[in-house]
Amino acid sequence: MGTPEVTTLRDRLGRPVEDLRVSVTDRCNLRCRYCMPREVFGPDHTFLPRSELLSFEEITRIVRTAAGLGVTKVRLTGGEPLLRKDLPELIAQLVAIDGLTDLALTTNGLLLPQQAAALADAGLHRITVSLDALDEATFREVADTKASILGVLEGIEAARAAGLGPIKVNTVLRRGMNDDQLEDLAGWAREADVTLRFIEFMDVGTTNGWLRDGVVPAAEVVDRIHARWPIEPVDRDHPGEVAERYRYTDGAGEVGVVASVTRAFCRDCTRARLSAIGELYTCLFAATGHDLRAVLRDEAADDTRLRDRFAAIWSARTDRASELRAEEGLTGPRVEMSYIGG
Ligand code: SAM
Ligand code: SF4
Ligand code: SF4
Repeated sequence: MGTPEVTTLRDRLGRPVEDLRVSVTDRCNLRCRYCMPREVFGPDHTFLPRSELLSFEEITRIVRTAAGLGVTKVRLTGGEPLLRKDLPELIAQLVAIDGLTDLALTTNGLLLPQQAAALADAGLHRITVSLDALDEATFREVADTKASILGVLEGIEAARAAGLGPIKVNTVLRRGMNDDQLEDLAGWAREADVTLRFIEFMDVGTTNGWLRDGVVPAAEVVDRIHARWPIEPVDRDHPGEVAERYRYTDGAGEVGVVASVTRAFCRDCTRARLSAIGELYTCLFAATGHDLRAVLRDEAADDTRLRDRFAAIWSARTDRASELRAEEGLTGPRVEMSYIGG
């Protein structure tokens, strides 16, 4: 296959599309209180019927189209992506796409002991595991689960053994819930040779009871780590990188913060999101997505129609919700994170 022609597509604020997050399911085996509170996502909640989900071929067709418009990085997410049956088959299809240089997956890690080897064999490049506490009781409280943190730690080791390193771990800190875990997690990550990133608790969706007081500002996280193990800033790799990176001065690797609330980075946001049923979202805080599945399933629509539709959606994009939040606060309906992925 030759190198495909890539169009430099820009939105109304001059931002290219470089990353695509693909949600492969809206289901999850945890009920993290900041994401899928059980009161909302309980036994009566209706998840997407399987028949509605995009097939692997349909996802691959959209990702190939996106790659032709500038996307180089794809992250599979959910819900919990490892709940999607036969996921390695999708990975094998995606890694074959020209222009895609980075294929990653975000998971809560619990199913990695069984699946890490197959994911690596299929060609997955990288993995990020979400872990919000080291203390078992806190983990169970945050994730509203009877599962043990040992399962997540085993998952991380299984991923490493399968060659999916270097491993990143994401922690969402919420004041009064798990902010006391900060130093323990940082100390563990230094020893375990994983790169930890602390993410500010965001007001995604409308069900997680977000209050500004619940946010542990990235600046506070940096100060607390620095007080224990001195750190110094590292330059970003590229403008679209959302994590602010720091290096331990004693050589024990790096740690990062994602200041989505206190230092919004919309002006550099090059990220699109695809829901499990094929809606394209141009912002994490959007109320609705743009239906690409109808184009996919329209027999009269060829790849050019799909490409034109994708390009038209991105070209019209003006989103800057987090910057607006800083200016005037967020209001109105918005999609749940478990629906379009983090
Ligand atoms: N289930 C997988 C997992 O937990 O890694 C993938 C999907 S989850 C929605 C992706 C990421 O979003 C996780 O790292 C999670 O911690 C983060 N997340 C969910 N709700 C959030 C919120 N309200 N604020 C900040 N991050 C959030
Ligand atoms: Fe599930 Fe991930 Fe949301 Fe937790 S953060 S409820 S693991 S989708
Ligand atoms: Fe991007 Fe929307 Fe987040 Fe701003 S608020 S960084 S535009 S996803």
